[in-house]
Amino acid sequence: MPEQDPLQRRSNFNEVNLGFTEELAKMEALRCIQCPKPTCIEGCPVGVKINEFIALVAEGDFLGAADKMKEDNLLPAICGRVCPQEEQCEVKCVVGKKNEPVAIGRLERFVADYERETVGIRVPSLKTKTGKKVAIVGSGPAGLSCAGDLIQMGHDVTVFEALHELGGVLIYGIPEFRLPKSIVKEEIDSLSKLGVEFKTNEVIGLTDTVDELMQNDYDAVFIAVGAGLPYFLNIPGENLNGVYSSNEFLTRVNLMKAYRFPEFDTPVFNCKDKNVAVFGGGNTAMDTVRISKRLGAKNAYIIYRRSDVEMPARAEEIHHAKEEGIEFILLSNPLEFIGDEKGWLKSVKIQRMELGEPDSSGRRRPIPIPGSDYILPIDMAVISIGNGSNPIIQKTTPDLNYNKWGNILVDENTMKTSKKGVFAGGDIVTGGATVILAMGAGRKAAAAINDYLKSES
Ligand code: SF4
Repeated sequence: MPEQDPLQRRSNFNEVNLGFTEELAKMEALRCIQCPKPTCIEGCPVGVKINEFIALVAEGDFLGAADKMKEDNLLPAICGRVCPQEEQCEVKCVVGKKNEPVAIGRLERFVADYERETVGIRVPSLKTKTGKKVAIVGSGPAGLSCAGDLIQMGHDVTVFEALHELGGVLIYGIPEFRLPKSIVKEEIDSLSKLGVEFKTNEVIGLTDTVDELMQNDYDAVFIAVGAGLPYFLNIPGENLNGVYSSNEFLTRVNLMKAYRFPEFDTPVFNCKDKNVAVFGGGNTAMDTVRISKRLGAKNAYIIYRRSDVEMPARAEEIHHAKEEGIEFILLSNPLEFIGDEKGWLKSVKIQRMELGEPDSSGRRRPIPIPGSDYILPIDMAVISIGNGSNPIIQKTTPDLNYNKWGNILVDENTMKTSKKGVFAGGDIVTGGATVILAMGAGRKAAAAINDYLKSES
């Protein structure tokens, strides 16, 4: 796929990937051999009819392809950009056994963009209303996909969002250069056109509890609040000025537009000509370090305790980060942040690691090398080692079942919780995962909520 030149994009927040042209899309679609049993669909958590939409692209019927896609996925422009297709549908593509698999994700993005840019996002016609009301807590990918399915099943749907903007992690967690906000907004607007009601600045657990929603005439509640509580390293010096969690850093930059301070009210650490270290190896770490480069960092490091083979980030994100000049310091673990007399971060003590036997995650365990410590001068550190569940729902809805990390326990087939009429899905159930897995959970919950509402009738 054509993309912005690395040197040029290092200084802007415009999208890196530029998308297929019509000709490239058709050529790529013609690589699909239209398998009688398309294994690619098995790899898609929301069951998009991949072979059918690709056949329409090959014929040049791009709007028909968009319609086919939206039978199973109402957020295709988002998924086409951020889903890890290389681990899902594309890894199952038959063509991939001998050659590059068909670029399913890029074709998905193409048809969604084609529709939006030519005729605007069209919404399907709706079934007769059932008179049932469902409250969805959280407007991230799980909540949005659940809302899209339930409204098409004829139910009234209200989505409650804690922040002032809709989209959850799609808005605050993923930077503009990977997922433009305008695209998220337009796909959410299409749900509004279908009749989904959205309420922002509503923190369920504070403004209303789950029980109050049920008492206020909602027939079912779907909890999809994500995983918004950042983990820290728990090492000395983590409270110094200049040490952030990725969650805070990304929220300041992505949601509050701190990169345009003082035009926007929220500031963020001034990275210009500074040394920035991001600790972690996932997509969030890549997003964070690439933002710091765009904010002018002189040296921007990824510091990760295993090797690049074990890195959980998408290969494409690692590749883009390297192209943009990010330096990878692998097999290295931070021991201590060191500050000056005024409490500002100045350096980090790093210990080198080597890989041992695989641990419970299946990845080789990092083992410290004694006497290998050294000091790396840095001005800003961002901890990007994952998120846990926010405790607000647990505190105010104690009669749900939770695991020891505060994730809600559900029946995996139906997403039903232990409380009648209450369902849950996405990161609040699984812990931090991918956008498409959260969407799959949202769709599964929508089907189960529909069955539940019918049975209650
Ligand atoms: S597995 Fe690959 S070749 Fe077969 S239908 Fe799916 S995309 Fe086409």
